[in-house]
Amino acid sequence: MKVLVINSGSSSIKYQLLDMQTRAVLASGIVERIGEPLGALTHKKAPGTDAEARKTIEQPIADHKQGMNLLVGLLTDPELGAVADMGEIYAVGHRVLQGGETLYMPLAVDDAVKDAIRANIPIGPLHNPANLAGIEVAQELMPGVPQVAVFDTEFHQTMPAQAFIYPLPYEMYERHRIRRYGFHGTSHKFIAKETARLLGRVPEELNLIIAHLGNGCSLSAVKAGRCVDTSMGLTPLAGVMMGTRCGDIDPAIIPFIAEQTGMDVVQIDAMLNKQSGLKGICGMNDMRDIHAARAKGDERAQLAFEMFTYRIRKYVGAYFAALGRVDAVVFTAGIGENDPDVRAGVLQGLESLGIVLDPAANAGRAGEWMRIAAPQSRVDVLVVRTNEELEIARTTVEVLRKG
Ligand code: AMP
Repeated sequence: MKVLVINSGSSSIKYQLLDMQTRAVLASGIVERIGEPLGALTHKKAPGTDAEARKTIEQPIADHKQGMNLLVGLLTDPELGAVADMGEIYAVGHRVLQGGETLYMPLAVDDAVKDAIRANIPIGPLHNPANLAGIEVAQELMPGVPQVAVFDTEFHQTMPAQAFIYPLPYEMYERHRIRRYGFHGTSHKFIAKETARLLGRVPEELNLIIAHLGNGCSLSAVKAGRCVDTSMGLTPLAGVMMGTRCGDIDPAIIPFIAEQTGMDVVQIDAMLNKQSGLKGICGMNDMRDIHAARAKGDERAQLAFEMFTYRIRKYVGAYFAALGRVDAVVFTAGIGENDPDVRAGVLQGLESLGIVLDPAANAGRAGEWMRIAAPQSRVDVLVVRTNEELEIARTTVEVLRKG
């Protein structure tokens, strides 16, 4: 049984074709720079395969439809392709950012689901239109193949009101649905289940702090398997400092910038999302480049690193207080899985909370997972590889089986 997972963004489409019996990735790739003068599609027959099994196309890609047409062409290419025709695909699972308070459980896509995703564009303005375009084009190109929408907010819907309501006039919540929704839910959900499996426990027994640290970063506090708080908010801009997003700042900074510079809210929003965070401080948003610059004595790179780890450490402390008891801190995503300096920086000085890292273990490379806590650490510390595509594919199959 083959499931195609699609993550359609404003100017990109990431995709992965999975074999559900073996969990093998049959093909994966990314269509980038849709709508720009020169777009690109990078397709891999399977991860880690040799150069011949990769193909890069560079050409203008006007819209999502053209991008999707190109990827369908490569998936069915006799030399590269993983399928003879798209009818071999059992279903398509779509990552959808925002379904609001009523639409968060995964659903087979019909007109009502599409209307609801459209109705939620005001609270997911950057992502929902692209998610919808991905669904509509996939329906057109793969008639008869069921499509399932999996919402990035689902895992966080268990938060209590004290965690998700903002201290604004209550009508902002009632009328405009302004509240904390949280994102990266598929990853946090996968990690909560996977951590329990790896520790030989059930999720209901475990209290976890999960740090998803990639280009976007979010933390969640998970009590007895259920999310009770998370760092992202109404949008993915909130919480810790990220690659290009600022995370939490004093909200009064926004009118202040507008007054001082004459920038309008659209320009300020773009600055906070795309020119801030690590990039705003030192000009770089890839942590590997930041380490290279730190090694050469770049003070801004050092400051960016220290701010990044300090801000995450404060969330770890806050989630300790929210949970009362913590069984494990779990690191995941690009930085969390691969960067021992960030992990050590985040957890430094937390011995009084019972967190002690084993430096040698922390310096190791995680396969599927690894333990990096010292034997005397009261709290376990793990690195667990996330797999959002597998989680979306599994969910897609479950939804269709339940009918
Ligand atoms: P993700 O969004 O999970 O794909 O993570 C992407 C980010 O992970 C990149 O922007 C890098 O900052 C970071 N990253 C990936 N590999 C490494 C590595 N080996 N060491 C440090 N950071 C890494």
